[in-house]
Amino acid sequence: MARSFNVPDFYKGSLVTDIKLKRQEQDPKKKDLAPSSLFFNSSVKSTSLKINLARHFGFCFGVENAIETAYRVVKENPEKRIFLISEMIHNPRVNKDLNELGVRFLSTTAGERLIDFKTLTPEDIIIVPAFGATIEIVNELESLGLDPLRNNATCPFVEKVWKRSKELGKRGFSIIIHGKVSHEETKATLSNARQYSPCLIVQDLAEAKAASEFIKGNISEEEFHNKFANRISEGFNPKLDLLRIGVVNQTTMLASDTLEIASMFKNTMLDIYGENKLNEHFADTRDTLCYATYENQTAVSALREIEADFAIVVGGYKSSNSSHLVELLEEKMPTYFIQDAEEIISKDDIRHFNLSTHAIEIKDNWLPIKDKITVNITSGASCPDKIVDEVIERIKELTLSR
Ligand code: SF4
Repeated sequence: MARSFNVPDFYKGSLVTDIKLKRQEQDPKKKDLAPSSLFFNSSVKSTSLKINLARHFGFCFGVENAIETAYRVVKENPEKRIFLISEMIHNPRVNKDLNELGVRFLSTTAGERLIDFKTLTPEDIIIVPAFGATIEIVNELESLGLDPLRNNATCPFVEKVWKRSKELGKRGFSIIIHGKVSHEETKATLSNARQYSPCLIVQDLAEAKAASEFIKGNISEEEFHNKFANRISEGFNPKLDLLRIGVVNQTTMLASDTLEIASMFKNTMLDIYGENKLNEHFADTRDTLCYATYENQTAVSALREIEADFAIVVGGYKSSNSSHLVELLEEKMPTYFIQDAEEIISKDDIRHFNLSTHAIEIKDNWLPIKDKITVNITSGASCPDKIVDEVIERIKELTLSR
C-alpha cells in the first residue's frame, strides 16, 4: 500500500523527516534494521550525546489516512458541525488540534457518550476514526438520518481483521480475538466478527490459558462465565463454541504474545484431538498484526540490543502500539514512556507513564550524571515526528549544558 497522504506540515519534524528520507533512499526494501545514530557534542564542555533512533517509528498508513480524511472533511465543510465517533487516534496533540478546528468527539475511548445522539441532526458530519466503529453505533447514527460511512477513516488493516473473522466464521470456527477489551478497535472487531460466529476476547496469555483450561475440562462453565463475562458475544456457549476455534488479533498487539497465544490454543487442540483432526478444531492462520506493528516492533528488537543509558518511547499513554514498544525496551534498559518534550521537566525530573502501575509518575535523578550519554528513542504509530524532534532537542539541551 505505497501511497502518500496529505498530512499537515506541522506534524513533520525537520530532523526526523530528513533521517527517514535518507534511510528510505539507502534502504528502500527496509531490510536494514540498524538504528540511525546521531552525535552531538557540547561546544563549551566535555559532554556529548549519542541518540539511536529506531529504524521504523511514527505515523503509519492508517494514521496518515485518518488525518488526511479529517482535515479534508474540515476544509470541505466550513459551515457544518463535525463529529468523530471517538478519538481520531491515540495521540493527545493530534486530537487537540482537531478539537481546536471545531471537531468534537461523540464518545470517550471507554465508550462513554460525550454528546447525546438526540442532539445530532442529519446535516451534521460524522467521521469514523482509524480504529473503526461498532455496527451498533453506525446503525444508531444511520437511524438518525446521518451518514457515518461517508467519511470512513477505518484503517484497511483493521478491515482486514474483520475480513479474516468473517472467513473463519463462514468455515464454522468461533473467533478468539487477542486484544484489549476496552480498546475501540477490539470493540469494533467484536461487533463485526460476532455477525458471523461466536466470539471470545482474550487480553493476554493468562486469559488465553484460562480459556484453554476450560477446553481441557479443567475449569467449570460457571468459572468460565465469571472470568469472561464481558468478553464474549451474546449467547456464547463455551461447551459448543470452543470446539472449533481460530485466532485473530487487534492489529497493534505484541507479536510474540499473539504467537504464544495461538500456539497454546493449537497445542491444546492437538492434545485433545490429535494431529489428524487438528484442522477441524483449530484454524491455523497467520496473525492479523499490521505491517506498522511488525516494522516498529522488529526495529525496537534491534534497538534494544544497543547499549544505552536509557530509552524513550514517545506516544499517547492510551496508544496500544506504543505501550508494546515500551514493554520490549524496558526488559533491557530503563525506559520512559512520554507524550511529548514537556514531560522532560528538568535534568532532575521526568514525568512518564509507568505501564506496571498504570500511573503517571515523576521520576527523579533520571538523567545519568556523566559526560557521555547514549539514548535510544522510538515513537508509536500515532505520534507526529515533530514531537520526536522536540524530544531530541530537549534531551540535547539538558545533556550538553551540564
Ligand atoms: S497501527 Fe496498523 S492497523 Fe492501526 S492505524 Fe496504523 S496501520 Fe492501521
